[in-house]
Amino acid sequence: MVRCSDCGKELEDEEVRYCSICKSPLCIDCTRYMVVMRKTIYKKEYYESIPVCKNCLPEKKLKEKLNKIVDEILRI
Ligand SMILES: [Zn+2]
Ligand SMILES: [Zn+2]
Repeated sequence: MVRCSDCGKELEDEEVRYCSICKSPLCIDCTRYMVVMRKTIYKKEYYESIPVCKNCLPEKKLKEKLNKIVDEILRI
């Protein structure tokens, strides 16, 4: 049984979301979204929204770091 890392609610497999940064399980209510800028191999930029937990919501100073982490995650 998976529990939401934020509110502690028990979640069914189809209900659970995972933070894109720290991989914590989240329920729908506790999932936040942030927008990251991505670049294609053709250097074209686009924006993508990814699920994150409240602890990983970006602050300005972290934004660059988070973008890098996300890039690494998506490259795998
Ligand atoms: Zn929750
Ligand atoms: Zn997180």
